[in-house]
Amino acid sequence: MIDSHCHLDVPRFDADRPAVLERAWQAGVRGMVVPAIGPDAWEALLAWPARDARVQVALGIHPQLLPELPESLDDVHLERLDGLLLQRVACAVGECGLDGPTGARAPLARQLRVLDGHLRLAHKHQLPLILHCQRAHPVLETWLERVRLPEAGAVLHSYSGGAERVDAYRARGCFFSFAGPVTWPEARRPVEALRAVPAESLLAETDAPDQTPTPHRGGRSEPAFLREVVEAMARHRGQDVAELSGRLLENARRLFGRPFAPGPSVR
Ligand SMILES: [Zn+2]
Repeated sequence: MIDSHCHLDVPRFDADRPAVLERAWQAGVRGMVVPAIGPDAWEALLAWPARDARVQVALGIHPQLLPELPESLDDVHLERLDGLLLQRVACAVGECGLDGPTGARAPLARQLRVLDGHLRLAHKHQLPLILHCQRAHPVLETWLERVRLPEAGAVLHSYSGGAERVDAYRARGCFFSFAGPVTWPEARRPVEALRAVPAESLLAETDAPDQTPTPHRGGRSEPAFLREVVEAMARHRGQDVAELSGRLLENARRLFGRPFAPGPSVR
């Protein structure tokens, strides 16, 4: 299993990160992608895969962080991102995307400009995009009509667009990643969406420390809980867990490429 999206670099893991990682490996997780939330995280993340190739990283600016960053520095940050991607360490560009319209969010026009910047860099560096989209699917769909996604593909992480949008996103070449909500007894929309996605376009994630799966709900999520997510996915789809796990691993390799290829680099 590959946890396609977890934020193990955030302070909530500072006290016990090595133990969290150990529990993940023990639980059968063979790799994970840690996407940056913002520019302050980039340098530290880039050092991680050299220490442990099972932990791969992505670089980007989360749309929810934009209100904390001065808009005048958006171009500076994207230029720095361009330089860091040249190191060929990051396996994807992200987390980036759209968030809104409730709460203290950056204006959509700015979110779209920054998203365009990420897309440009994904094309330039031939990397996939890790997309966040919450309460902004109509805007994302319109955006997708005017842009071309990178050849390397894109994933809609913790997919929230419902079954009705699956075909449109798939036609654009998107993968769909599902997190803890598919384990929640009251979850309807994510489960319907999960059933509508063909197996070859599926990924699984924990989005740790958020979206904790049942039965760990109420506490912090961690990659070791990926098993509960994958088991729930298999159950809802009427699929065998081992068969689905194999497919998810293959899909993660197809999207993220080299770092998760079978061979000596994965210990
Ligand atoms: Zn995230």
